[in-house]
Amino acid sequence: MTEACCIVVGASHAGGQLAVSLRQQGWEGRILVIGDEPYLPYNRPPLSKTFLSGEKHIEDLLIRPEAQYEKVGIDFLLGQRVSAIDKKNKTVTLSKGESFAYDKLALTTGAIVRPLDIAGSELKGVLYLRDISDVEHIRQFIGKGKKAVIVGGGYIGLETAAMLRKLGLQVTVLEAAERILNRVTAPQVSEFYIRVHREEGVQLETGVDIQGFVGQDRVEQVQCGDGTVYPADLVIIGIGVIPNTELAEAAGLAVENGIKVNDFCQTSDPDIAAAGDCTNHFNGFYQRNLRLESVQNAMEQAKVAAATLCDKPIQYNALPWFWSDQYDIKLQIAGLSTDYDDLVIRGDHNDGRKFSAFYLKQGRVIAVDAINSPQDFMFGKQIITQKLLLDKTSLSAPGISLKDFLKK
Ligand SMILES: Cc1cc2nc3c(=O)[nH]c(=O)nc-3n(C[C@H](O)[C@H](O)[C@H](O)COP(=O)(O)OP(=O)(O)OC[C@H]3O[C@@H](n4cnc5c(N)ncnc54)[C@H](O)[C@@H]3O)c2cc1C
Repeated sequence: MTEACCIVVGASHAGGQLAVSLRQQGWEGRILVIGDEPYLPYNRPPLSKTFLSGEKHIEDLLIRPEAQYEKVGIDFLLGQRVSAIDKKNKTVTLSKGESFAYDKLALTTGAIVRPLDIAGSELKGVLYLRDISDVEHIRQFIGKGKKAVIVGGGYIGLETAAMLRKLGLQVTVLEAAERILNRVTAPQVSEFYIRVHREEGVQLETGVDIQGFVGQDRVEQVQCGDGTVYPADLVIIGIGVIPNTELAEAAGLAVENGIKVNDFCQTSDPDIAAAGDCTNHFNGFYQRNLRLESVQNAMEQAKVAAATLCDKPIQYNALPWFWSDQYDIKLQIAGLSTDYDDLVIRGDHNDGRKFSAFYLKQGRVIAVDAINSPQDFMFGKQIITQKLLLDKTSLSAPGISLKDFLKK
């Protein structure tokens, strides 16, 4: 009898964790992780932070050393793309034609960058940032005094802007919406980040209608609808990501803004699980469907998916959290602020670089943005999960410790 095989497609945060968790949950058969990047699972967040700045190198990014996977018998097939899944015959096929049989399958295919398809977007120097090769590409265009235009004022755009300033470039951030971080934070938090970036010398413009990129062979200018022209040696586009669902969709799995998974990270096929940025799940805490783009979600869902594949189901019910590093500011976010109806600021967002924003809905805290305030993040997480009803005045009083709320 041949041993059972579990194939994991995608070798990143979710894929690597899922493989390790399979062993921890008692999977005795073969585990084969197939990834189209040529690297073992690596940490993606430093790509716009310390890897871009050159402080960290590829070997520093690896989530686990190779020996750790070898020790528990996890096989990798790297630099290979899975091009098809045959659910009926339980096989996956690589772009190069080779097929592999599976007993259980896990999809951790992540997300791909949302392309900006406008005039001149094919010019050299118009770049994106999702993986190691993107950063290596960006490095060819950067240098002290060079002009970088970042399209998109989301976390990745802003982190990249901060790092390029540190490297001595002239940086402009162009955001189409009326404010940066529009979808994810309160106006006060957006105002704070606008102030900080301008203090650091970034030119930051909102409500910008970009018409196209112009240049002979490589990008030289960004042209806007109102006639404004921004000179550019390079452009980095950071306008979000799209879940990578092509493979799942072609295989006939249920897909709706991500591969649909239940509370146990199981797809519409009981022998196929999915985890990470590629999924869409129902979140019990927020009582709605969510597609999250965070390391924490990828790792937590991977553990749940592995348990499901080992027939030891555990329910996924984690509170989302996220972080972003820009200049000397560590932002830690607990929960999701969408639908908040009230906001309490602890500290002063108009001055200095330390405060917290508590988002409330019907008197309960649903999310916290903690800026250089790790204690508020920690207690905020507990306040959210305990669903405490809070007195707003005390919450905003800096003299009152959040620890006391929890004690009460
Ligand atoms: C620059 C940057 C900074 C970030 N910063 C933060 C941060 O500060 N905090 C945070 O929480 N999150 C951050 N994120 C988001 C975080 O990195 C993602 O949420 C996380 O990588 C999701 O992991 P994943 O395994 O689900 O997907 P991914 O990391 O996208 O991995 C999917 C993998 O599958 C591979 N793949 C896809 N299809 C196939 C196929 N058919 N065959 C083989 N392989 C395939 C892909 O090439 C990729 O390697 C950042 C992301 C980026 C790009």
